[in-house]
Parts: sequence; structure tokens; C-alpha cells
Amino acid sequence: MAVPKRKTSKKVKNQRRTHKKLLVPGMVECPNCGELTKPHHVCKSCGHYKGDEVVNN
Ligand SMILES: [Zn+2]
Repeated sequence: MAVPKRKTSKKVKNQRRTHKKLLVPGMVECPNCGELTKPHHVCKSCGHYKGDEVVNN
């Protein structure tokens, strides 16, 4: 079995994890107001979907 020759340093380990962010799964950010919304659903806070206002509050 292949074994790493050197221990991965904290720096390399943290650099690798910069792409790993805390995100709620199944939620996307609304491009209009930045609120977290469900994908393929009208935004609950501003009523926008795909860049157009669909629901008037
Ligand atoms: Zn919104």
C-alpha cells in the first residue's frame, strides 16, 4: 500500500481546505438580495426568481 513519505504540514492542510466552506446544503444565495433560498424556488424575502420580480410583497 502506498504511504505518504512526509507528514502533511498544517500549512498545506489548511491551504487544501480553503475551498471547503460552511454552507447549508440544498440552499443557494439569492442574486438579488443575497438571502439563502431554495434552488428553483422564488426567493421568500424579495420575491425574485431568475432576476425578475415574480411576487409583489
Ligand atoms: Zn431575494
